[in-house]
Amino acid sequence: MQTKDLLDLANEFGNPLYVYDAEKIEFQYKRLTNAFSKVEKLRINYAMKALSNISVLKLLNNLGSGLDTVSIQEVQLGLHAGFTPDKIIFTPNGVSFEEIEEVAALGVQINIDNLSVLEHFGTKHPKVPVCIRINPHVMAGGNENISVGHIDSKFGISIYQIPHILRIVENTKMHINGIHMHTGSDILDIEVFLYAAEILFDAAKQFKDLDFLDFGSGFKVPYKKDDIETNIEELGKKLTKRFLAFEKEYGRELTLAFEPGKFLVSEAGYFLAKVNVIKQTTSTVFAGIDSGFNHLIRPMFYGSQHAIENISNPKGKERFYTVVGYICETDTFANNRRIAEIHEGDILCFKNAGAYCFSMASNYNSRFKPAEVLWKNGKGHLIREREKFEDLLQNQIMIEI
Ligand SMILES: *Cc1c(COP(=O)(O)O)cnc(C)c1O
Repeated sequence: MQTKDLLDLANEFGNPLYVYDAEKIEFQYKRLTNAFSKVEKLRINYAMKALSNISVLKLLNNLGSGLDTVSIQEVQLGLHAGFTPDKIIFTPNGVSFEEIEEVAALGVQINIDNLSVLEHFGTKHPKVPVCIRINPHVMAGGNENISVGHIDSKFGISIYQIPHILRIVENTKMHINGIHMHTGSDILDIEVFLYAAEILFDAAKQFKDLDFLDFGSGFKVPYKKDDIETNIEELGKKLTKRFLAFEKEYGRELTLAFEPGKFLVSEAGYFLAKVNVIKQTTSTVFAGIDSGFNHLIRPMFYGSQHAIENISNPKGKERFYTVVGYICETDTFANNRRIAEIHEGDILCFKNAGAYCFSMASNYNSRFKPAEVLWKNGKGHLIREREKFEDLLQNQIMIEI
């Protein structure tokens, strides 16, 4: 996509606006499948919590992707977008037993990450095959919010509890058909990933009737210049070799599964917002945009550094700005950032706005959620309308006072 295309879309559809480049999603999907092309049975399950628009889901379905879901509502959206139940895996944490049963009844693969749920489910539904999410206790990198493999994490069944898992399986005669791990976002080091994979292989040996091994995700994508990025090609080479050797040892062909979110959609996304005000204070120049953490919470929530470009004046002289939102509390997108000179009315473009951006948006300050556009074949397709006042009133009840 060109800068000019983005500017045209902002004019056509208004601001603030999310734009997703279909070609980039396809590119990333193919990059991943190419890196593992020597694996006979490869399965990519797109982690839809990253970006759950049904047109994006349809695009991924057409590419051959499966779906990783964390709530029954995500499962329902996936089915609505055209995924068949056998292409969906349900990897919840802390949901009710009834929800797990309901999803299993739809024919969706379930992934259990809790011993008591495993025992309960195996007792009640011994014929339904179940995948187990283990916690290998490996810190794959990132900060505390996004590393889910460590010892205090709420995710997964500890690797040290395998004997208990085996006892439950023996007692209930349930069928474990997959082993899963997801060490959290941001794998900085391939060696760490491979180390965790060894733990998964070790665990897998204890189960005789597996169909798949699921290595989760956490692939890192660059957010700014010189950021580290997971070397997918190198990971592909090394893990494929190890996986093929394991298959031999295990004595049967297995499916190798991944469930990337960020890797597939982060870089495909652009968030466009208009500068309402320039405000010079004694210490900085603020650029205040017509959005806030209600639309893009990652900078405030995770400290994420989204690159920002002034697409209205891309060749302008660079100056330092603090980019803030219009929410009535501290709402900073970027501190002291070098950006081409900004005038009121300019359109700023936030990069890496595909993953965990719109899907985490809210109506805080009673603002409308933005529209979403899919850029495909050189054209912008509206895939979500901007909200309207009626949307704010929906479900509210004004009682007699
Ligand atoms: C969120 C999540 C993912 C996707 O993580 P990314 O960092 O976006 O690739 C994969 N698997 C599970 C179980 C998740 O909860």
